Amino acid sequence: MRLLTVPVLLAWLAAGSMGTLAPQRPADDRIVLVTVDGARTEEIFGGLDVAVLQSTRRDSQRNEDSLAYQRFWAPTREERRRKLMPFFWDLVTKEGSIAGDGYAGSSVRLANTHWFSYPGYAESLLGEAHDAAIKSNDPIRNPFPTVLETIRERLNLSRDQVATFASWSVFNSISEHTDGATLVNAGVEPLETSDPEVRLINALQRDAVTPWEGTRADAFTFRLAMKHLASARPRVLYIAFDETDDWAHDGRYEHVLNAFSRTDGYLQELWTWLQSQPDYRGRTHLLITTDHGRGHTGKDWRDHGAKVTGANEVWIAFVSPRMSQRGSWRGHPPLSTSQIAATLASWVGIDWNATHPNAGRPIR
Ligand SMILES: [Zn+2]
Repeated sequence: MRLLTVPVLLAWLAAGSMGTLAPQRPADDRIVLVTVDGARTEEIFGGLDVAVLQSTRRDSQRNEDSLAYQRFWAPTREERRRKLMPFFWDLVTKEGSIAGDGYAGSSVRLANTHWFSYPGYAESLLGEAHDAAIKSNDPIRNPFPTVLETIRERLNLSRDQVATFASWSVFNSISEHTDGATLVNAGVEPLETSDPEVRLINALQRDAVTPWEGTRADAFTFRLAMKHLASARPRVLYIAFDETDDWAHDGRYEHVLNAFSRTDGYLQELWTWLQSQPDYRGRTHLLITTDHGRGHTGKDWRDHGAKVTGANEVWIAFVSPRMSQRGSWRGHPPLSTSQIAATLASWVGIDWNATHPNAGRPIR
């Protein structure tokens, strides 16, 4: 028996004899998960970081003369973050919420102790850290079934109804324990279809190479994800962006900021589309997060991993028809990305902790 809220139950009983009102069940809801690789709390909550920008400039160069400064600088952190990600901040202020801002007394931490990508993503998709088994970024098949696979199985969905689109090829290994259980399109990988526009994207992503092995530009990941969303209308869509991390490792801070800004545009297009579709509007749960933080200072912002202070400090944004909180979370017990699997599962009526007693609990 599914749990129905009292008003829904009463409406359902009242309409029962006419058979006019089918109660909306959690299992009908949709999930969109978005990750932004290595996106620091500094940029998410404070926009441009002047100390980091200065660390990328020669002694004689003033920050004020840089294009990044001219585009993204403002006197307060609230103004700066809105310059960097205006849509995102509108969304989490008016329709959702965000946890992880230390200035607001909010904390989100990694449960794993590695503080790099595969362990971070695996923690979110499994609901717990497996530090001994998952300890490298090598393309090793996930040793455990993920929440994505479990949702597909439990809701008896077809493969294309649970889809991952990722810029990094290793998601072919991270997203699923059973190869082919869901749809995974990751790295420079074509999406099989007869749609001529998708075929063009397939060709362009192959030719427009990035400097990073096994990684395509986020633009291709986003376009393919949107194409699949509109045609297959998946119940669970996962989009994993990567450029914020790649450019940071390369020390190209202006490109990091531009990647944040482009991601904001993708989120706007995605959310606007979802709200324009009757089968997604009002029943889509969006969760946006990251796999790890990075160093706090101009000396170590490029790096992350267990030796880098702050690389376990992360954030989670929620836009869910079942969450009433708005804006920044304040003064709550610390959250962890190990709670994401149970949270996603709860949105489609699945109790993740019943089968994963060591996993983090759903965030409500
Ligand atoms: Zn990463």
